Amino acid sequence: MEPTKIILDENDLPKDWYNINADLPSPLPPPLNPGTGKPLGPQDLAPIFPMELIKQEMSLERHIKIPEEVREVYRLWRPSPLYRAFRLEKALKTKAKIYYKWEGVSPAGSHKPNTAIAQAYYNMKEGVSRLATETGAGQWGSALSFAANLFGLKCTVYMVKVSYEQKPYRRIMMETWGAEVFPSPTNKTNSGRAILKQDPKCPGSLGIAISEAVEDAATHEDTKYSLGSVLNHVLMHQTVIGIEAKKQLEMVGEYPDVVMGCVGGGSNFAGISFPFLHDKLKGDKKDLRAVAVEPTACPTLTRGIYAYDFGDTAQLTPLVKMYTLGHTFIPDTIHAGGLRYHGAAPQLCLLAKEKVIEAKAYNQIECFKAAELFARTEGFIVAPETSHVIKAVIDEARGCKEEKTILFNNSGHGNFDMASYDAFHQGKLVDYICPDSKIKESLKCLPKVG
Ligand SMILES: *Cc1c(COP(=O)(O)O)cnc(C)c1O
Repeated sequence: MEPTKIILDENDLPKDWYNINADLPSPLPPPLNPGTGKPLGPQDLAPIFPMELIKQEMSLERHIKIPEEVREVYRLWRPSPLYRAFRLEKALKTKAKIYYKWEGVSPAGSHKPNTAIAQAYYNMKEGVSRLATETGAGQWGSALSFAANLFGLKCTVYMVKVSYEQKPYRRIMMETWGAEVFPSPTNKTNSGRAILKQDPKCPGSLGIAISEAVEDAATHEDTKYSLGSVLNHVLMHQTVIGIEAKKQLEMVGEYPDVVMGCVGGGSNFAGISFPFLHDKLKGDKKDLRAVAVEPTACPTLTRGIYAYDFGDTAQLTPLVKMYTLGHTFIPDTIHAGGLRYHGAAPQLCLLAKEKVIEAKAYNQIECFKAAELFARTEGFIVAPETSHVIKAVIDEARGCKEEKTILFNNSGHGNFDMASYDAFHQGKLVDYICPDSKIKESLKCLPKVG
């Protein structure tokens, strides 16, 4: 009988991360200094990141060794299981085989500790004593709080205010791991105060919270900034997911036809897909499809434009070339807080631009319906973010007449998102399709480059 879950031994934990910079179809446009318009050098990033992460950010080496201290912490929950979704397949009457990598087994409940552990480790090695960061739904903040604590670092989290209010349990988790958490916009930073002056009731956004955390790090000697997605080194740390999944699929003689993941900044999608896209970019697996799934309320890849933009609202970050809805774009407050970001990872955007990957967008009600079917067949109650990829997988598989192997990343559990499921059950969820006018308006604020 075919196994339901495919398990690797701890000794099979990957020894290297995969750096897709070595295989991109065209060079990644460099991040620019917004003041000079010139490409950034390592020294420009030194005030906010440790040197080793800056090196990884710019590295063109295909494989980068995972430090033993990081692998030791990974062992707490890695290698994560790969499941075959037999019951979901049956419910869909599909001929497709559906596999999912389950990242909800980490202490924080999502894929995010894969990079949090690495980032906390390199900061500790370089003598940093505090990390500042932003969090949307609270998953990144909890992952970094967990990681910072293990390596003896303090952690300050700027949490998007709407999530801070909707999701108190995530805040309590962070505090349990020893972090301090503030609802953003705060009046602790210049960026926060400026926003509150314009709109005292501002629900916050990831863009605003990033501004606050970057400002905190840049203005404190002992503090560095830590980002949970978007950057090259973050996506690279997540490739442990896809590297493991490849081995696990090999064990049952499979290779995916389609790889899917939801996209906020792009890290979990990159984590599962990049090790497979390596084969496509090399020319070995030309027909492999990779599908990135985002919310219609924040349709970065499907309706944004490919341009240089700031990563944050207050224009403190470098300019990066990406699909963007404009750094002033504030998405409607959907329950998938982790997908409310105006941009996406430059590596992912380049791959979308070059048509190596595809993108799709879904509304939140259809996503919760999909997540409910998943819960009733597979058992796991997934995060609202993850519900987006489940909807896409169901569409891909439903009524599928030919044999096809679908692999997706089940990025995290929704155990702290019961209020969202409750709103769904009570018919209180609202669908949002972002109007063209709103995107047009925020794109007016794109910086002029070159
Ligand atoms: C943060 C998060 C996401 C979105 O972020 P990416 O960087 O795009 O992966 C998706 N799912 C879960 C469970 C998350 O916590």
